[in-house]
Amino acid sequence: MEFGEAVEWVFAQLVAGRPLDEDAQHGERERALAKARKDLEECPVRDTRFNPEARHTTPAQTRELQRRDGYRCSTPGCPHHLYLEVHHIRYYSHGGETVPQNLTILCSACHRNVHEGRLRIEGTPGQVVFLDGQGRNLQRQWRLDVADWLDMWIGWTGGEFDCYRGRLAA
Ligand SMILES: [Zn+2]
Repeated sequence: MEFGEAVEWVFAQLVAGRPLDEDAQHGERERALAKARKDLEECPVRDTRFNPEARHTTPAQTRELQRRDGYRCSTPGCPHHLYLEVHHIRYYSHGGETVPQNLTILCSACHRNVHEGRLRIEGTPGQVVFLDGQGRNLQRQWRLDVADWLDMWIGWTGGEFDCYRGRLAA
């Protein structure tokens, strides 16, 4: 038995909550493989042919956009990776097309903030800038937060400007 098999063996027993005999383990593995194969066959080919005129993306297109954006909200510093929605950077109602370059994944909270004016997404698709309600660049705000964190926990050795925040501001 190789090391990988031994690890699998131990985990299989842990998950099953009982010792496994070899036949049972083999059967488990075959069933899991068959299920994975079936899932793959049923999964549609990536539908990248977007219809610019369509109001909504298809489930396959939504999955593809989520994959592109890392299965998380695109707002810098937003930690959400649940309740993800597709947002038109240039609004559909303003003539924005339903094409990947004009679409971004947002969590439902950020999506609401955009449509209520507390979050602004500007720039051309592909070079998008996120701004808060006061017009501050959120990417920069997030980097300042990281710099503060580094200053706090790693500490700075220099003077007022010789620190992570100071160097970022320079
Ligand atoms: Zn968000």
